[in-house]
Amino acid sequence: MKTKYCLPIIESKSTETFKIIKDNFKNYDYFEIWLDYIEDLTPNFIDSLKKEYNVKLIFLFRRLLLATPNMSYQKRIELVDSLSNSKCLLDLDIFSQKKELEYLNKSNKHIQLILSYHNYQETPDNKKLRKIIDLMMKYNPYIYKISTFCKKDQDALRLIDLSIELKDKNIKNVILGMGDKGTITRIAGVILENEISFTPVDTKSKSAPGQLTKEELEEKVKNIQVCYFIADPARHSMSPQMHEAGYRSLGIEDKFLFLRQKVVSKDLKKFIDGMRINPNIIGACISVPHKIEIMKYLDILDETAKKIGAVNTVVKEGGKLRGYNTDWIGILTPLKQITHDSLNGKTAAVVGAGGAARAATYALTLEEAKVTIFNRDIEKGKALAEDFNCKYDSLDNIKRISEFDIIIHATKIGLLSTDSPLISEDLIKPNQIVFDVVYSRDDHKTELIKQANNKNAKTISGIEMLLHQGVAQFELFTGQKVSIDVMRSALT
Ligand code: NAP
Repeated sequence: MKTKYCLPIIESKSTETFKIIKDNFKNYDYFEIWLDYIEDLTPNFIDSLKKEYNVKLIFLFRRLLLATPNMSYQKRIELVDSLSNSKCLLDLDIFSQKKELEYLNKSNKHIQLILSYHNYQETPDNKKLRKIIDLMMKYNPYIYKISTFCKKDQDALRLIDLSIELKDKNIKNVILGMGDKGTITRIAGVILENEISFTPVDTKSKSAPGQLTKEELEEKVKNIQVCYFIADPARHSMSPQMHEAGYRSLGIEDKFLFLRQKVVSKDLKKFIDGMRINPNIIGACISVPHKIEIMKYLDILDETAKKIGAVNTVVKEGGKLRGYNTDWIGILTPLKQITHDSLNGKTAAVVGAGGAARAATYALTLEEAKVTIFNRDIEKGKALAEDFNCKYDSLDNIKRISEFDIIIHATKIGLLSTDSPLISEDLIKPNQIVFDVVYSRDDHKTELIKQANNKNAKTISGIEMLLHQGVAQFELFTGQKVSIDVMRSALT
C-alpha cells in the first residue's frame, strides 16, 4: 500500500479552510485540520466538512507542548463527540491530551484514532520509544504516530529502524524526525510505505521543522537510491550507521538511504523480486543465513563470489542483479596490515566451514598461505579443503591449533556473551595472530579475543572485517571512494 499524502491546514477562517481543501482535493489523500486555530469554528462547519470530505479528514487540537491550548476542555470534548461514528481520523497526543483520550476510552465512542507522541526537543532512545508504543496499545489506535526532534545523526536512523520494526508486526505507523537531521525519515516514510506523509503545498505553510513540500518530497523520493541490509536477525547490524556516515562525509546523504530489514529464509525470493521491480533499490548487503541461498536468484555472479561460493553483496547493474563477495577483503586487508604483507608460506588454521570460513580460505590461499580447515561437520570441512586445495582436520583435534602462525575463527560461537570459545586460552601462543570474525556490539571484543590478548597474541577483531568489507560494499553501491576513518568512527 502506498503512503497517503496529507496536507496540514492551520487557518483562522473556516471559509479559507474549505477553499484550501477544494483547491487541493485531487492532490491529497488527507487534510489535517488544526481545529482550535479556526476562530469562527461552529458545529455546522464540522458537519459540512464531514459531509463533503469524510474519509479525507484528520482533526487535531493544539498540543500543550507546542502552544498553549486556547479551547476549553468542554468544547474539545463536544468536538470529539461530534466525530463519533464518522470515518474521520482524530489525532490525540498520548501525554498532553490524556484527558481527551481517557474520555474517549471511557465513553466508548467509535472514532478512528491516530495516537501520537511528540517530542520537540530530542529523540529519546528506542527502548523508551518502544515503552511509549506499548502504552499506546491500551487505546487500540488505528495509527501509531511518533514525531521527535532529531539532534544527532543517529536519531533519524533509529526512527527508521523503529518504523520497520512496527511494519514487521503489521502495526500501522507514521514515524517522523523533525529538524534537518530528520528529513531523511520523511523520504524513508514514503519508501517504506508509511501510512501518512505530511506535506504542505508550499514552504510558507510548513507545520513542522524539516517538513518538505509535496513537490520537494516527491522529487527526493524519485531520486533516492536505496541499499538494504538483509539478514535474520538483522537488528544487531552496524552496517546502516557505517554507510550513513559515509554518505554524510561525501555530502550524498540525501541521495542515498540505507535500510536494515529482517528477511526470513522463506521470504528471500520475495525480497529479490521486490528489488528487481523497485527502481529505488540499487543494492543489498546479504548476511546470515542467506549468503549461499541468494546465489540462485541472481542474474550474474562475480568471479570471486563464484570461487568463494557465497555472496554478501548484490548490486543492480543495468537492470540485472550481480552478486559479489567482499568478505574476503574484510579478512585479507587487516591480515596484510598486521603481517606487513607477508602471508606467503605462513601456516593458517581456519575454524569453521561456512560462508565466512570460505571467504577466509579464499583470501589466505590467494596469498599462498598454508591452510588447514577445522570444522564440526568434517564432511563440510573436507569439501571446503578440496575446493581450495588445502588440508582439513576434525574439531576434536583443535589442540593442534597451537602450531599455526595464524588462527581465523569463523564459526558462530561468540555471538552470545554466554558462549565459551571453541579455542581455549591454553592453546594460544604469544605472537600467534588470532582473528575472530565474530564481534561483540558492546566493546567489540569477544571472549576469544580477550583470551588471546591475555596470551600476548596479535589480535584482529571481527569489527575490522566488518569495516573493510563494508568499505568495499560502499564503493560498489555508490561508485565513490570513502574514508576508512569515517566509516570506522561510526562503529565506536
Ligand atoms: P554459516 O555459513 O552459517 O557457518 C557457520 C559455521 O559455524 C559452520 O562452520 C558451523 O559448523 C559453525 N558452527 C555453528 N555452531 C557451532 C557449534 N556450536 N560448534 C562448532 N561449530 C559451530 O555462517 P557464516 O556466514 O560463516 O558466519 C559465521 C560467523 O561469522 C557469524 O557469527 C557471522 O556473524 C560472522 N561474520 C562476521 C562478519 C564480519 O564482518 N565481521 C562477516 C561475515 C560473517 P558446521 O558446518 O559443523 O555446522
